[in-house]
Amino acid sequence: MGLATLSQPEEQVEPAQVVAAIRSAIGVAEDHAFQPLHVPHFEGAEWDYVKDCLDTGWVSSVGSYVERFEQEVADHSGVAHGVAVVNGTAALQVALQVVGVGQGDEVLMPALTFVATPNAASYLGAVPHFVDSDPSTLGMDPDKLDAYLADIGERSLEGLRNRRTGRRFGAIVPMHTYGHAVDMEPLIAVAARYGIPIVEDAAESLGSVYKGEKCGSLGRVAAISFNGNKIITTGGGGAIVTDDEDLAARAKHLTTTAKVAHRWSFDHDTVGYNFRLPNLNAALGCAQLEQLPSYVERKRLLAKRYISAFERISGVSAFHERCFGRANYWLNCLMLDAPSLEMRDAILEATNDAGLMTRPTWTLMNDLPMYAGAPSMSLEGARNIEARLINVPSSVPLGEDPC
Ligand SMILES: *Cc1c(COP(=O)(O)O)cnc(C)c1O
Repeated sequence: MGLATLSQPEEQVEPAQVVAAIRSAIGVAEDHAFQPLHVPHFEGAEWDYVKDCLDTGWVSSVGSYVERFEQEVADHSGVAHGVAVVNGTAALQVALQVVGVGQGDEVLMPALTFVATPNAASYLGAVPHFVDSDPSTLGMDPDKLDAYLADIGERSLEGLRNRRTGRRFGAIVPMHTYGHAVDMEPLIAVAARYGIPIVEDAAESLGSVYKGEKCGSLGRVAAISFNGNKIITTGGGGAIVTDDEDLAARAKHLTTTAKVAHRWSFDHDTVGYNFRLPNLNAALGCAQLEQLPSYVERKRLLAKRYISAFERISGVSAFHERCFGRANYWLNCLMLDAPSLEMRDAILEATNDAGLMTRPTWTLMNDLPMYAGAPSMSLEGARNIEARLINVPSSVPLGEDPC
């Protein structure tokens, strides 16, 4: 008798089971309309605040909603200062710049992220350096980073350098994937030991918490996105958030054309950007922020529904937060077990055919042509996640009683 017959036969998931379980989690019958991955949800003061901009003429880059939005975003991120900008990518670029990242630096970041993360570093002339991810958090693996830096790092007067390339490490960029916090405590310890600043890519994690601390407050500075698909939206927009008053002032200056304040003269003291968020968008954002706590609660209930709908199905489960985190569950994730990996594309096809939008995770950054040659550690964890993960419909009102 061979070993194989002694063990439990491992079952593969059927695509039809996945379709049925998603429908049950989001509470729709078979004749449902197309269900997108994530749509914006407006049920607060959006109309009133936007109309106020039109009524008063304050639609552009100056206006009271901008300052209000900046302060409220900072409050929701657990820090003192916020700077509103045109999008999350610009926020990340400037966040990196204000901690000193520049030409020829290397920026440590996960290979499993949205392309904006390495792009933001590239705009500054820096080089992304890819780090592996932990399948239990979907985020940067602090233990692997620690061992890796011990191996390839070399201390110098300007800070830790990559001894293979001679380039300085300018920042570590953890990204809280789909709203799940990176295991920050060990990561903060690694960053502190080597004196490398942490810039959080908190684009997906507004409202998420790690060990009682809000995502966005865990590094020196963080970038948030308010794109149309994120948990709340300003149409398009982003913010830089930080507790550091000087960094915030520098970020504000850089993103508002580096104009020196004066009653009439146009003086600019460095190459700045016009990255200002218009008042119209900030107004939308103020209304959306008022609803953030309720959105997080409702998305957490939807996640529970996914988790229980998939408990009964072998070969696949819905991703669950770690005990140290309190996720905003921006996008829910199905995770295939090893025997079901070959079913991934059949599941993507069956669900999309059934009017349920599903997507694999991002192609790993070092598989994109422009980042194929970038330095990287080995990426078993990220590859594992890439093979297993499927995003499923996650908009705020899904799974709720329509009455
Ligand atoms: C959305 C997103 C960004 C960029 O935000 P935009 O507002 O779309 O520019 C950056 N990083 C991650 C991980 C994101 O998901």
